[in-house]
Amino acid sequence: MKLIPLPAFSDNYLWLWHDGQSAVVVDPGDAGPVREALLQHQLSLVAILVTHHHADHVGGVADLRAATGATVYGPAGEAIPEPCHPCQQGDVLHLLGQSVHVMDVPGHTAGHVAYWLPDAAGGPVLFCGDTLFSAGCGRVFEGTPAQMLASLDALARLPGETRICCAHEYTLSNLKFAHAVEPDNREIEKYTSECKTIRARNEPTLPARLERERAINPFLRVREPSVVAAAQRLYPKAHDPVAVFAALRQWKNDFR
Ligand code: ZN
Ligand code: FE
Repeated sequence: MKLIPLPAFSDNYLWLWHDGQSAVVVDPGDAGPVREALLQHQLSLVAILVTHHHADHVGGVADLRAATGATVYGPAGEAIPEPCHPCQQGDVLHLLGQSVHVMDVPGHTAGHVAYWLPDAAGGPVLFCGDTLFSAGCGRVFEGTPAQMLASLDALARLPGETRICCAHEYTLSNLKFAHAVEPDNREIEKYTSECKTIRARNEPTLPARLERERAINPFLRVREPSVVAAAQRLYPKAHDPVAVFAALRQWKNDFR
């Protein structure tokens, strides 16, 4: 299975995966880069997976379906350009010889789903839209902090070798925040210098490995004493994991 991040807009990635003949695209906010990639690699698009309803994730769906006849799959609880096969927690799709497990991960939006491919050659793959980013997470727009934390916790329990395919290149700015939360975390420093080198070549920092995210991502570390202490310096009442998560999310929203 080949996995290709297609850059779009200012910082999105549209993830394309293929077997040399057929392809699946995740969250095509723009049809242009997908059409170019299909032409360049001589692929036919068989399916479109959508994680949530935001325009930068669905903007190219109608065009691509009209051009290719691809089947569209998306969250059962959200309005996705119809016709769309509704997906929810526990569903398993079979695409290009892969099992695709649907996970409900509400928080960024109310019906946000993620797609997990446990059997991909080279290690499991996760398409998580705007829920988990490398070194960060999405803003909580429609759900509650409790929902978002439960969603991130569920993703964090996947196998450590899982490759995280996020929808945005936010890694370096997230790492700046992660460093402010945990200035003594050496893994954050190490990862920052690796990512700076990668970005200097104008390459994606993604996919990220889940085991690394557990070591550096403050939003997956809300039970670590260092993270709790940092949150409480700004929000003294942040005593339980949900309150620590909400404090970090607020801190990050205001962080420059
Ligand atoms: Zn979004
Ligand atoms: Fe987005």
